[in-house]
Amino acid sequence: MPITPEILPDLIQALNDVIADNALEVAELDRAIGDGDHVVNLQRGLTALVEQQAQIAELDWVSAWQKIGMICMSKIGGASGSLFGTLFVSMAKAAKGKTVDIAVFAEAFLAGVESMKLRGKAEAGEKTMLDVLIPVAELLQQSVDMQLPDLLEQVQVTANNGVESTRDMLATKGRASFLGERSLGHIDAGAKSSQLMIAAIVAVLQGKYE
Ligand code: ADP
Ligand code: MG
Repeated sequence: MPITPEILPDLIQALNDVIADNALEVAELDRAIGDGDHVVNLQRGLTALVEQQAQIAELDWVSAWQKIGMICMSKIGGASGSLFGTLFVSMAKAAKGKTVDIAVFAEAFLAGVESMKLRGKAEAGEKTMLDVLIPVAELLQQSVDMQLPDLLEQVQVTANNGVESTRDMLATKGRASFLGERSLGHIDAGAKSSQLMIAAIVAVLQGKYE
């Protein structure tokens, strides 16, 4: 059964809930090596997405990603706003004119993450959300033939490993880079929020398709 944009209100609601439920922890992480606003930034975007979820669910995937990207850019703010905006707008661009299946999604997600790297002038290993998103994008690219339950489980494990890997990284991008060696020993807030949101998406898909 194809996964259609009708699932978007459930996904948006799950993202909203997981960030609300973990707000204190993520805010604390951004306070430790950033400026503490990451949760508030994300919640501004998520509130706007919740408000517009019914309209978004009526679009096709490409138009939905484009609209989500524009909302991220205009509402989230901070470094993460333009990065998440870039992710979704680039996904829309990469999938334009194609019928979205798991292979096209994987290709689009990889293109989106590549655009984030360019936008943030960042690579893997710099203690950012990319340390979750890059490994997940690569896994998806390599695993399109896997059965959905196995794929979802792998995505979950990969995201968990990604967020944990940021703990011992030296931050070289974003505000945390101002701290130099003092960034060591802390998990990156954007990596944590990305892992939480991926886990929430996985849980919704597991509930519906397994
Ligand atoms: P700001 O850093 O402007 O306060 P947020 O607090 O919303 O923005 O987001 C911070 C997160 O954004 C960081 O934890 C990190 O994961 C991510 N980030 C910051 N700069 C970059 C960058 N250049 N490339 C990739 N991710 C980045
Ligand atoms: Mg911040």
